[in-house]
Parts: sequence; C-alpha cells; structure tokens
Amino acid sequence: LVVLRRVDKHFGSLHVLQAVDLTIRRGEVVVVIGPSGSGKSTLCRAINRLETIDGGEIRIDGRPLPAEGKELAGLRADVGMVFQSFNLFAHKTVLENVTLGQVKVRKKDRRTAEERARALLDRVGVAAQADKYPAQLSGGQQQRVAIARALAMDPKVMLFDEPTSALDPEMINEVLEVMQQLAREGMTMVVVTHEMGFARSAADRVVFMADGRIVEETTPEEFFGNPRSARARDFLSKIL
Ligand code: ATP
Ligand code: MG
Repeated sequence: LVVLRRVDKHFGSLHVLQAVDLTIRRGEVVVVIGPSGSGKSTLCRAINRLETIDGGEIRIDGRPLPAEGKELAGLRADVGMVFQSFNLFAHKTVLENVTLGQVKVRKKDRRTAEERARALLDRVGVAAQADKYPAQLSGGQQQRVAIARALAMDPKVMLFDEPTSALDPEMINEVLEVMQQLAREGMTMVVVTHEMGFARSAADRVVFMADGRIVEETTPEEFFGNPRSARARDFLSKIL
C-alpha cells in the first residue's frame, strides 16, 4: 500500500533519512521505534508530505505523492495522522472538528458528515463531549477526538506519531485501546511509540531506526526476544 524506496532527507548538513526502504502492506500494523532524533517523525511526515524528500520515492497505491492542490488535500485525507500534540481546531466544537474535513475535502453533505462524526465519536468513547470545545476535554479525550477526525476521512492508512507521549499516565490506556481496536479491525497503521506493550501485542512488524536508517525490521517476538544489532540491544536495555 505504502512503498518507500531509497528515501533521503537532509536538514542542512544533517542527513535525517538515509536511503530508507520500507513497504507497508494493506492491513499491516508497523511499529517504528528508535532513539530521539533517529528520524521517526520525519519518516511519518514524509508519507503525507508534511515534509518533502530529497531523494528516492514514496508511492501510495502505486502512485507518487501529489505535490499540491486538491490532490495534496486528498492525500492528507487518505493518510490520517495523529500527532503527539492533539492538533484539534481550538475554536471549533468536537463535532465540528470531526465533520469539517468530510464536508470540505470529501464533499459530503453536512447531515451525512455529522451522522458519521457522531458514530465515530461514539466508537472512540467521547460521544458525550460532542458539543464541547477541545480545551474542555482531557488529553486522552482530545487524542481520541483526533483519531475520530482522521478516521472520518476514510483513510487508507493511519500514521500515529507518539500519540500517547504527551498524556498523563492514566489516559494512555484509553488511547491505546482505541488503537488496538483499529488494528484488530484491519486498519493499516504506522505507529511511532515507546509503548512496548502495544508494540508486542499489536505490531505485525517492528521497525527499529537509528541515525536516519532502518537498522532492524522484524517481528515483535524477534525484536524483543532476540535483537540482532548492538544499537537495538542498547536501546532496549535503556527503556525496558
Ligand atoms: P523524537 O523521538 O525525539 O521525536 P525522531 O526520531 O522523531 O525523534 P525527527 O523528529 O524525525 O526524530 O528528527 C530527526 C532529526 O532531524 C533530528 O536531529 C532533528 O533535530 C532534525 N530535524 C527535524 N525536523 C527538523 C527541521 N524542521 N529543521 C531542522 N532539523 C530538523
Ligand atoms: Mg519524533
């Protein structure tokens, strides 16, 4: 579904993605882990073109990423993204947050879009908050709204960049549970996370990055049980 071939990205003299090859198949859950600065966020951002790349190519469904206009808006809808900071529209209600993109980008009529929004808010457990503003919600609730907003676009793939790392501990599980559920339902997902429990239970594959390269790419059982590289062993010894 998503294919990266020899993707390169520099920030000035910093080579943050170095000939990255990665294929994400339909229905697959790929967890990306690695030390700070290894290029995990840049990788995610490149997939929905929040970041341009300097070399190589990225294809979704066989097509190169569009550069601008309607096609780019379509890409951003096809590739749902959930960030560490919740990034909701602060001056719109929860319901509007989940309705807006459906109307503007997917061209649905407002009633259909609102119905879908309510169904999704119910699914992530925040239906009662529909008429509130984001600031009136807890972090965990806001993050679940952000997930509902991305899902409302009927994405082909969902990217999660450390979705729980800004949350208070007691709210982490409610967000991980929504993600687990999505994974079970067959959503194609790329998840950058330090939640190793989630990686073990939900990942089909673990991708370990260091210094802009994919150092290991394997099953969670292999990765946690028998990491091959010194970098991965070192990383795991620090976080487990
Ligand atoms: P973290 O775990 O801390 O989120 P990461 O693996 O997501 O790290 P990236 O955010 O992808 O890492 O950053 C990779 C490298 O690129 C870092 O050295 C970072 O400082 C640098 N970088 C990221 N964005 C920019 C930018 N817009 N301009 C310059 N340098 C950047
Ligand atoms: Mg990051």
